[in-house]
Amino acid sequence: AAGGEQHEFSAEVGRLLDLVVHALYSEREIFLRELVANAADATDKRRFEALTDGARALPDDAKIRINPDKEARLLTITDDGAGMDKDELARNLGTIARSGTRAFGEELQKAKPEEKPSLIGQFGVGFYAAFMVADRVDVISRRAGSDEAWCWSSTGKGNYTISPATREKAGTDIILHIKEDADDFLDSWQLETIVRKWADHISWPISIVKEGEETTANKGTALWRKGRGEIDEEQLNEFYRHVSHNFDTPWATLHWHAEGTLEFSALLFIPGSKPFEFGEPVRESQIRLHVRRMFITDEAGLLPPWLRFVTGVVDTEDLPLNVSREMLQATPVLARIRKAVTNRVISELKTRAKDEADFDRFWDNFGPTFKEGIWDDAEHRTELATIARFRSSTQDGWTTLDAYLERKKPEQEAIYYLTGDRAEMLSSSPQLEGFRAHGIEVLLLSDAVDSFWPDRLGVYKDTPLRNISQFHADLEKFGAAEETAEEKSDLESVLPALKEALGDAVSAVKATNRLVDSAVVLGAAENGPDLQMIRLMRRSGQ
Ligand code: ADP
Ligand code: MG
Repeated sequence: AAGGEQHEFSAEVGRLLDLVVHALYSEREIFLRELVANAADATDKRRFEALTDGARALPDDAKIRINPDKEARLLTITDDGAGMDKDELARNLGTIARSGTRAFGEELQKAKPEEKPSLIGQFGVGFYAAFMVADRVDVISRRAGSDEAWCWSSTGKGNYTISPATREKAGTDIILHIKEDADDFLDSWQLETIVRKWADHISWPISIVKEGEETTANKGTALWRKGRGEIDEEQLNEFYRHVSHNFDTPWATLHWHAEGTLEFSALLFIPGSKPFEFGEPVRESQIRLHVRRMFITDEAGLLPPWLRFVTGVVDTEDLPLNVSREMLQATPVLARIRKAVTNRVISELKTRAKDEADFDRFWDNFGPTFKEGIWDDAEHRTELATIARFRSSTQDGWTTLDAYLERKKPEQEAIYYLTGDRAEMLSSSPQLEGFRAHGIEVLLLSDAVDSFWPDRLGVYKDTPLRNISQFHADLEKFGAAEETAEEKSDLESVLPALKEALGDAVSAVKATNRLVDSAVVLGAAENGPDLQMIRLMRRSGQ
């Protein structure tokens, strides 16, 4: 690639490359998992693009080919995928676009040397993993639908070059110049073992060139189509890692086949930990839609956004293979599948919620997202509120609304709650003083979504929810001490004076029996937004 255009890596890529390459570890072989996954993604992408652009049609024998050359010390991974044009090469391989990769880099930098190897094993580091085994990487790519080819080349040290190249057909070759100490990766048998271990579920054939002959190394079985008894846990976990981009084991695995009016197979997972990049930038469900095993898109919105922590595959017989984006939006089949899948996930959560310790693990990761469902899902709102968990002013750990109702005082008419940024801060809020003095429990809600769902829910099992920062949450009926005549007349003169001094900064100054030690507290108007909402609006400049 001498004489090609020189480019610097973005600062982040440079730093990440350094970390990946120097944190040597025993599982270098995962570079192959990353490159094969990219080749499979690119092939999926081209298949989908070809639906609307015939010029990008995928060859019938599309596959991923792994070719080691011991003499030249080269390992080449070839695909018939969508390829990359010049801009895409620079953008995809020269900068870090994904927040997950960036977060990984930050974690890696913080980690102690002995922790680095396992960290790399836990995360996907993507394309850059190639530099663990290669001292130079050339990427020759031709975008499907174009006749130009380009070569991206780098030694992984600060810069890369891009120069014109030739390639007979569309697709990509990743050529690794294998390092002195990485001979294993030039051995076909070793490579085959690695593919079996990490990429068996990839649905495109992966062939390995062995003594001049090509053999297919993966089974490519659509795991989700099999019966329960035919799959072992290791296969499930590996597939989970592939679809979720997580590297732990799932908290829940849901696998079923729907038959009758609607025919589909689903294999879904709820992750055991919260993915780094969770929630941003994508807030839509990314469940993969397959039609008769073929991957179609992960943008079909097969679950509502509040269930976006669920990952996996839905494979249906009820759509044509050449289904287009427009058709996906219009077809009633998807709406029906969505409903069936949503109900199934909710019923799984309800079952698992019976085991508190087990459900806490889920709640710690995805509780805030789950609560969006109380706001969003009119049909299941109350059911969802029943299994939701909350912090409270009188309990350690999580509690539920039902447990709150059991503890509440007979004369208490409402479920009281307070919203704010942090549970620890809420528990020392002066707003709580009067409630504490009367032994009345208050839920402490500190997630952003907590400013929204209580209003939507309104009432739980005939008991209204009330924000104690609003004036109507009154403590009179709990027998607060009456003011003496002297206190009364003091208040009568102080309140108007305070209002006058504060002017338009407040809408009213009122006496309250909610305080014990503090002299004043801010309250929100009964019919307006609560205090936390006012804070949020102010922060967003409204
Ligand atoms: P990720 O796969 O998670 O996006 P990677 O670092 O593995 O991150 O790859 C970065 C990007 O480079 C991919 O998103 C893709 O756009 C592009 N890319 C990598 N390998 C290929 C390939 N074989 N064919 C086409 N595009 C590729
Ligand atoms: Mg990748």
